[in-house]
Amino acid sequence: MTDNQAGWKMDNSYSRLPKIFYSLQKPTTVKAPEVVIFNETLAEELGLDSEALQSDDGAAIFGGNEIPEGGNPLAQAYAGHQFGHFTMLGDGRAVLLGEQITPDGQRFDIQLKGSGRTPYSRGGDGRAGLGPMLREFIISEAMVGLGIPTTRSLAVATTGEEIIRETMQTGAVLTRVAASHLRVGTFQFAANWGDTEDLRALADYAINRHYPELEKEENRYLAFLKNVIRRQAALIAKWQHVGFIHGVMNTDNMTISGETIDYGPCAFMDTYDPATVFSSIDRDGRYAYGNQPYIGGWNLSRFAEALLPLLHKEEDEAVKLAEEALSEFPEIFESEFLSGMRLKLGLFNEEKEDKALIADLLNLMNQHKADYTNTFKALTFGKLNESEMFKTEEFTQWHEKWQGRLGRQEQSKEDVQDLMSDNNPAVIPRNHRVEEAIEAANNGDLNVMVKLLEIMANPYEHSPDQEEFCKPAPPSARPYRTFCGT
Ligand code: AMP
Ligand code: MG
Repeated sequence: MTDNQAGWKMDNSYSRLPKIFYSLQKPTTVKAPEVVIFNETLAEELGLDSEALQSDDGAAIFGGNEIPEGGNPLAQAYAGHQFGHFTMLGDGRAVLLGEQITPDGQRFDIQLKGSGRTPYSRGGDGRAGLGPMLREFIISEAMVGLGIPTTRSLAVATTGEEIIRETMQTGAVLTRVAASHLRVGTFQFAANWGDTEDLRALADYAINRHYPELEKEENRYLAFLKNVIRRQAALIAKWQHVGFIHGVMNTDNMTISGETIDYGPCAFMDTYDPATVFSSIDRDGRYAYGNQPYIGGWNLSRFAEALLPLLHKEEDEAVKLAEEALSEFPEIFESEFLSGMRLKLGLFNEEKEDKALIADLLNLMNQHKADYTNTFKALTFGKLNESEMFKTEEFTQWHEKWQGRLGRQEQSKEDVQDLMSDNNPAVIPRNHRVEEAIEAANNGDLNVMVKLLEIMANPYEHSPDQEEFCKPAPPSARPYRTFCGT
């Protein structure tokens, strides 16, 4: 296979940033790379040839033994607030091979995760286990189906080597595709370990890559800050709409592009409860479902702090500008949240009381431990015999109010149902389903995962074959706990 046949068209613009931002680093070679799952749809979007890549040559690339032509592998430097504590981090087990230029001229990072030690590995082995890498594959691709901005997964390759965790695990490498891997933490790194020119170079690079329309703005760095705030507010609102809990919203896990990144201990909420936490390491509930918007705002404050030297030459003035921009976050988030919730309730226009109508429903769901996804699905199709909550007097009153509200807009019942079914997924990657798929894959059977991915590719389809994926986990599978997955 030549690279031409496989379709690689690589550049590495990141390596043209000042040298403090990375360390050139090849992936560590592995014993016997083998591709266990490959994303043909994504390969096609990237201009890659699936057939050519599902070969030994492809396995050599996805395992880290060969570098596609034009690649210039490097580990990125970044810092981050982890559970509130600031640390130097960096790619400790990942390398950026380069950026694939797609046939329509877009640029996507191609990163190997689990590809061995780097100068930023600290005490870690630089490796990843098959289970956690398949988990990232499943959840990130499910996010694509749900219509939520996210990094993507091109392939998972096993390495033919075992890694040591609590038990021995099959070693694996995930090929992650992202608009970029620029993080809030990359800017914190620049602000703490670089000079203003390094910071400016990074900001200009990020603007050029993700917000080119801002290049003409008078204060492009302020405009940049405001736009990242906007994209993150929109992203987190989308998470809330589907009950996605990221689990480790550290500042190194928040992108500048507005994509969801780093699927570690994330999971989807079954029963509606804002206090839901799945991650075994999040003991204080810092990253609970209901906290995600606040943490988003907190992280963006760290981003604004890092940008201060670029916002204005007078520090006081810079702080004022940053504070003004940050003060808009709660409003933007709420407006994004409410518009998405209106769609979920079939509302085409806005009324002042919508906020209370939405809050009342969520409160009822919380009180009656209703399944989040299935409640909205039942409302969509008027199947109000499915849960205990629907039999209560309070719900009946809420339902009357909602019907009254629907009656005050001109759209027909059919229009309302169409809007709702387009905005309420029939399926989410339920935790027990994800576990089941990973377990089967660990035992050499990929069919369960392939089926789950197929179902999750069209979550708004509302077709009969989704039925068996709609059921919440049996009580025996709860409380569900996720682990950091290193
Ligand atoms: P994460 O929790 O995945 O966001 O990772 C936090 C930091 O730990 C990042 O700098 C990772 O690169 C690093 N890290 C995670 N696992 C490993 C590992 N097995 N070896 C080296 N570094 C790691
Ligand atoms: Mg991370």
